[in-house]
Amino acid sequence: MPPGEERKNKRLIGFWAQKKRYRSNKNLLPRASEFVDKTFDPILKELILSYIELETKSANFSKGMSNCRFCKKMIGSYDLTDGEYLFPIGYIHYIEFHNVVPPLRFIRKVKKYYKEKR
Ligand SMILES: [Zn+2]
Repeated sequence: MPPGEERKNKRLIGFWAQKKRYRSNKNLLPRASEFVDKTFDPILKELILSYIELETKSANFSKGMSNCRFCKKMIGSYDLTDGEYLFPIGYIHYIEFHNVVPPLRFIRKVKKYYKEKR
């Protein structure tokens, strides 16, 4: 598959702006800090993390390591996809350790997934 092919027709989440170019004309990506919610329900968080673990596969490789914008930890170098959404593997780290909340639409999908599984 040619580079970039996996990203086509996917909803991209968890891609953040570079600090210095934040919201310049060239870069309309958000910052991770915009999605932090300290009251993020731990049960919901657990559901989201296990959904990602169960239902995603890697979409590409070696785009270079990235560091967490908050704690500088190395958090991986490839993307994951569930077929609809595509996000860097490091997105899991942001959800788990920094209470970064995924978009509502994604959360609804996760809830629906578990409802149908029951
Ligand atoms: Zn971190």
